[in-house]
Amino acid sequence: MFNKSMQRLGEERSVIRELFEYGNARKKEIGAENVFDFSIGNPSVPAPACVQNEIKRLIDTVPPEVLHGYTSAAGAPEAREAVSAYIQKEFGAPMSANLIYMTCGASASLAITAAALCEEGDEFVVIAPFFPEYRIFVEGAGGTLVVAPSDSRFHLDIEALSHAVTKHTKAVILNSPNNPTGAVIGEEELKQLALLLEKKSEEKGEPIFLIADEPYRELVYGTKVPFPMKYYNETILCYSFSKSLSLAGERIGYIAVSPACKSAEEVFAAVCGAGRKLGYVCAPALFQRVCAASLGKVSDVGQYRENRDILYDFLTETGYECISPEGAFYLFVRALEPDAVAFAERAKKHELLLVPSNSFGVTGYVRISYCVSRTTILRSLPAFKELFEEYRPAHPERSEGSR
Ligand code: PLP
Repeated sequence: MFNKSMQRLGEERSVIRELFEYGNARKKEIGAENVFDFSIGNPSVPAPACVQNEIKRLIDTVPPEVLHGYTSAAGAPEAREAVSAYIQKEFGAPMSANLIYMTCGASASLAITAAALCEEGDEFVVIAPFFPEYRIFVEGAGGTLVVAPSDSRFHLDIEALSHAVTKHTKAVILNSPNNPTGAVIGEEELKQLALLLEKKSEEKGEPIFLIADEPYRELVYGTKVPFPMKYYNETILCYSFSKSLSLAGERIGYIAVSPACKSAEEVFAAVCGAGRKLGYVCAPALFQRVCAASLGKVSDVGQYRENRDILYDFLTETGYECISPEGAFYLFVRALEPDAVAFAERAKKHELLLVPSNSFGVTGYVRISYCVSRTTILRSLPAFKELFEEYRPAHPERSEGSR
């Protein structure tokens, strides 16, 4: 026999992936230009030139058996050093290469961190709406996911968090800039969260960790993302280059354990142990080096910003309700009927592929990933208008009596 819960996990279809597959099939049927696929967060802007240049340089200068060989499990020393130096310089936060663990992207960073921290009976608090895979990583590590709501603008609801965080809490997972809302958690909120976690840690008698999931850190529009380690000691940063350098398919990121953690070295050892247990021998060797040379570089965020502005302006003028995202590349739009799944199905009839919010832990919204070509954005606008008018006709038919 085999593990039935793994079978279920494999068979259970990710709504996002399912929609993405549907989109690919539909594109074959009616032409790619006629399908408005807003389903997946696959960066549409190319990696900055430094990435391609560094790949070529490495291929030309490093012997292949070295370039493609194993690195240390925690990562190539040069890559760990470079990440540590970057964090110190960019954020003015203390860091050590000995606390950096190179990973296969944020998913691996999160799965490893959850496994490194989780003991029997532990709870991990997430803030809705949240990235659906958190549940898989936390439950996979043997923990329980506890969902706290955000406030009406998708920012922190400290009161709700203070109820959700208990003596059973091992960590709070914070994702800013946020998928799916684009909200960026500001300094004041972060300070309040840090105060809450300090108080709760004291009551618990041991530290509660803050897991900062930050694949969108650099994708912001006129705002800065405060660096959580500067506000809360027990922070573990789960970073990825998937979005900032448009390298989602290359699987590269890192975990950084704050040197201010009470047991930083032991936590780091647990990270290494969890990576080992989960079978991550080392992160991709070529891309460890490429990313080390590209720290601080970002794909052209201006293109996402323009997509955001075009869509946001058009949708709100049409009558849709949404909050202008401060970061990431997602718009979270209120569905035009209470059932977001039914709304997304109706949107499909207009070739609009939108992700219903249920899988993010809230009802009544759809997520639009606007990391798509400008042409797709522009061509989709009439479809959004038609969809809106289907629900709220611009000129409702007059009754017989009024004619
Ligand atoms: N965390 C969030 C909030 C995400 O949106 C994603 C991917 O979309 C991930 C983690 C996983 O990123 P990666 O592709 O680096 O594994």
